[in-house]
Amino acid sequence: MARRISHWVDGAPAEGTSGRVGPVFNPATGEQSGEVDLASAAEVDRAVASARAAAAQWRESSLSRRAAILFKFRELLHDRAGELAEIITSEHGKVLSDAMGEVARGLENAEFATGIPNLLKGDHSEQASGGVDVYSIRQPIGVVAGITPFNFPAMVPLWMCTTAIACGNAFILKPSEKDPSASLLMARLWQEAGLPDGVFTVVHGDREAVDAILAHPDIAAVSFVGSTPVARHVYETGTRHGKRVQALGGAKNHMVVLPDADVDMAADAAVSAAYGSAGERCMAISVVVTVGDVADPLVDAIATRLPKLRIGAGTDPDSEMGPLITREHRDRVASYVDAGERAGATVVADGRAAELPADGFFLGVSLLDHVKPEMTVYTDEIFGPVLCVVRTDTYKEALDLVNRNEYGNGTAIFTRDGGAARQFQFDVQAGMVGVNVPIPVPVAYYSFGGWKSSLFGDTHMYGPDGVHFYTRTKVVTSRWPDPATSTVDLGFPRTR
Ligand code: NAD
Repeated sequence: MARRISHWVDGAPAEGTSGRVGPVFNPATGEQSGEVDLASAAEVDRAVASARAAAAQWRESSLSRRAAILFKFRELLHDRAGELAEIITSEHGKVLSDAMGEVARGLENAEFATGIPNLLKGDHSEQASGGVDVYSIRQPIGVVAGITPFNFPAMVPLWMCTTAIACGNAFILKPSEKDPSASLLMARLWQEAGLPDGVFTVVHGDREAVDAILAHPDIAAVSFVGSTPVARHVYETGTRHGKRVQALGGAKNHMVVLPDADVDMAADAAVSAAYGSAGERCMAISVVVTVGDVADPLVDAIATRLPKLRIGAGTDPDSEMGPLITREHRDRVASYVDAGERAGATVVADGRAAELPADGFFLGVSLLDHVKPEMTVYTDEIFGPVLCVVRTDTYKEALDLVNRNEYGNGTAIFTRDGGAARQFQFDVQAGMVGVNVPIPVPVAYYSFGGWKSSLFGDTHMYGPDGVHFYTRTKVVTSRWPDPATSTVDLGFPRTR
């Protein structure tokens, strides 16, 4: 019988009552491994009531107590990283070393949040006016929700919950229903770290649960990470219900390679960033843009690396790339290679032809050269192991291509010319830029977010923007005059 994956409410597992469940697969075998509860609006309501009561208490906790819990949570996460990575691999499919990397980056967010006493400091202006002091404080906003994608079942929730909780909020996580189990280990670790029940809640579900969250009057803010159409829906619906919303969407990340770049280094970077995690990363490189005569040697250098990639189950230490998340997604990715070929792209490597285990959701790696900007293989986010090469003649042409693209998540430039790299960083329309770094995911004390259709809302995620998003500022103006000097004055208060 399939393992039942339930919600986590009030510090305990809570079996679903909606009567609706979704299948969870092991993508390496194709077998169903579990059955996840899909919450109804009434179940979301119960979870919010518990979180609301917990939030009222939690906002009173001292900063040193919050920091102590964050330190403990960080230690537990560190000690149990292997177990968490195994859960990720079993439901997502990515190789274990990659899952460990995901946990390590999530740990950084916990480390950042341990500094909460410092991060919540306000400003203070003594004697802003005669005998008047002005100061600002940051306060939590109450119950906040996080809706997360399948591709980082631990890291993306950790981007959100560590800062939200450290800021004094209660956090409700609605993880992807495709790989829901990592969230439950994290719930147990929060509890073991001493977090009061109800401050971290997990509600599993699909659109019904998401829409209930977006309309719920007791949820103050929603952080979302996922595909662009859903990000847009979440942003528009959430803000219409008066919520603060940050919604990160899809991506099509370009790596520009200038003629002076080291070809082998650029090829290593392109292969790693395009095919790592089977291309199921929002910061994956999906388009290499060559400038001038670097195209032929670079395509050759990439192509020679591909037959050596080891594709297999994520639990096999020899595997470098695992399967895709579902059978349907695997077939959809393969259909893009069909479309690219039909549209006239050159299929240099064909992942459809790779000999791979038949039962799992495996697909080999594809490399398409001479891709044109109007082909769907270029315009759409494929989210699989398919790398496109678009050839351009000049830096200007390459830059225009990147800037015309609908998305603006990450981008990278490979060159040995510092001046060209600086110009690119100045010109390019994307939220995260790598200079000879193919996957420029910011460290935890900066913030993560794209531009254009890769982000709806004003604040990026985690880091300083995260603190800003999960708190409200209040400015206090105070004076302690001698009552004997008090008079009535109908004029508008002026500084003196
Ligand atoms: P998705 O948009 O299908 O799902 C994301 C979340 O939204 C899930 O929790 C899911 O249950 C929910 N959801 C799905 N359809 C919904 C609907 N119609 N109404 C309401 N809620 C819905 O995304 P995914 O397939 O899980 O993840 C892959 C996508 O996420 C890619 O597009 C990728 O680029 C993006 N992503 C972006 C970032 C970023 O930082 N910008 C990071 C990771 C992933």
